[in-house]
Amino acid sequence: MSQVYVSQHPLVQHKLTLLRDVQTDHRAFRELMRELGLLLMYEATLDLQLSPKNITTPMGEMVGSKADATIGLVPILRAGLGMVEGALTLLPNVQVWHLGFYRDENTLRPVAYYNRLPDTATVQLCLLLDPMLATGGSAVEAVNVLKKWGAPRIKYVGLIASPEGVDRLSKAHPDVPIHVAAIDEKLNEVGYIVPGLGDAGDRQFGT
Ligand code: URA
Repeated sequence: MSQVYVSQHPLVQHKLTLLRDVQTDHRAFRELMRELGLLLMYEATLDLQLSPKNITTPMGEMVGSKADATIGLVPILRAGLGMVEGALTLLPNVQVWHLGFYRDENTLRPVAYYNRLPDTATVQLCLLLDPMLATGGSAVEAVNVLKKWGAPRIKYVGLIASPEGVDRLSKAHPDVPIHVAAIDEKLNEVGYIVPGLGDAGDRQFGT
């Protein structure tokens, strides 16, 4: 099973509560997504490898640290877009690769409709951004795509997961750690997380 990290940071829980609230308008929702994207990215990068770096301060020489892993942010369209800006605040020089999926009505499986990844992997660590880990179908398929691409290391970073989504992703990809702000009670009959926050795409974009 995957390692599952549920943020205990008080600011994450505070902002997530505001985000869930039906009274929160689109503008505030986007701002909260940005802030939560940043805070969760902070937690998901706590184990980044460092190499030594010689520098000179105004007071003398020292050996500092440099985080030199090449990182790719992979938002799943469209709800994942809301987490990109916050993540980029922390990681301004990373690559951003978008993936989009639709659901095939015959097979009920997610099918990629947008994927501009180059032929071979260009990053050492992929941070997959998708705020809602609901059925887990798109997340599992996104990791399949990234592994086929050759991504050596992948982490899932989201906001709210269902128990079913965590179970599905971690059974399909036990090597992919899952970082979220909450694991909610359940999925409803149409695949929405309860209590959740509704449709993360609609709430960001006012649709
Ligand atoms: N996607 C959403 O935006 N919300 C859910 O509750 C489930 C999937």
